[in-house]
Amino acid sequence: MSFEAELQVALKAVAVAARVCQSVQSRITRESIEKKDRSPVTIADFASQAAICRILGDAFPGDEIVGEEEAEALKAPDNARHMGDLRSELSKVGIDASEADLCEWIDRGNGQGGSGRFWTLDPIDGTKGFLRGEQYAVSLALIVHGRIELGVLGCPNLSSADAWDNAKGVLMSAVRGQGTQLRPLSQPDAAPQAVRTSSTTRADMARVCESVESGHSSQDASALIAAKLGITAPPVRMDSQAKYATVARGESDIYLRLPTRADYREKIWDHAGGVICVEEAGGRVTDVDGRPLDFSLGRELRENRGVVVTNGGLHEAVVAAVKSVLG
Ligand code: AMP
Ligand code: MG
Repeated sequence: MSFEAELQVALKAVAVAARVCQSVQSRITRESIEKKDRSPVTIADFASQAAICRILGDAFPGDEIVGEEEAEALKAPDNARHMGDLRSELSKVGIDASEADLCEWIDRGNGQGGSGRFWTLDPIDGTKGFLRGEQYAVSLALIVHGRIELGVLGCPNLSSADAWDNAKGVLMSAVRGQGTQLRPLSQPDAAPQAVRTSSTTRADMARVCESVESGHSSQDASALIAAKLGITAPPVRMDSQAKYATVARGESDIYLRLPTRADYREKIWDHAGGVICVEEAGGRVTDVDGRPLDFSLGRELRENRGVVVTNGGLHEAVVAAVKSVLG
């Protein structure tokens, strides 16, 4: 299947949601960060999920959506005060909504996933980066019978490298069997550029990226793995699925996500959009044991631990190093 209609709708939905996030992020002040005021995240998360679920729901009313947020949380007294702000952010991108509409759209995202056809959405991945004014991503993917068929990443703070005069903000998309493409976020209709992973097979020269947050991925273990591979350069730390985008376009060669707790299970929306962008660009993604990620088991990657992402050529060597360090 070509999934052309799905791709066009997904690109539009992610571009609209990313514009809302950019508008909210521009209002974040040093004060709100120092006070650890989470209201900007709250407003942008809910607005992003509402916009995308509305657009998907209108275009594909029969499709289930597995999104991170739920309206129940928005109705809590602490969050309900944000309702007006949320509505005004959405109206800036041309979406007029009542409070009831908003809750209904957000709750279109409470699907459970599994083995049928469904979308999975992270309305703002990397909320800590969003608050710090750094990297974050809007991630949307279509999964059919456990296979990711399409993914779109909106990365508002990733610059478009050499294309389009380093315009800030990119939309990366992939359809199974059709490669990975990049567009500037400000021109979602622009002719896309194809991207590929790097071709390096020299592990010691590999550029590694990982989470900024040591609670999301063991930085101690990744240092040992890098040393085992002969890598001396420090890792690049970055929030969100923007890390997948950097591997997909050959800017980094390895992204390691190493368990910090035995009982944590990765969420499908934290990976699906990024995984297909890397795979279609020539890269590989497995768990720390070298097994494929299983997206057919509900909201979590229940049977996988950690995630290892590479340019493709380095995968066997990296998984071997990961196994030898994690035991
Ligand atoms: P990153 O920006 O790559 O650090 O990842 C952000 C994501 O990490 C969030 O969307 C969370 O769902 C996820 N997360 C939260 N706790 C953990 C954990 N203990 N291990 C791995 N990921 C986590
Ligand atoms: Mg996330």
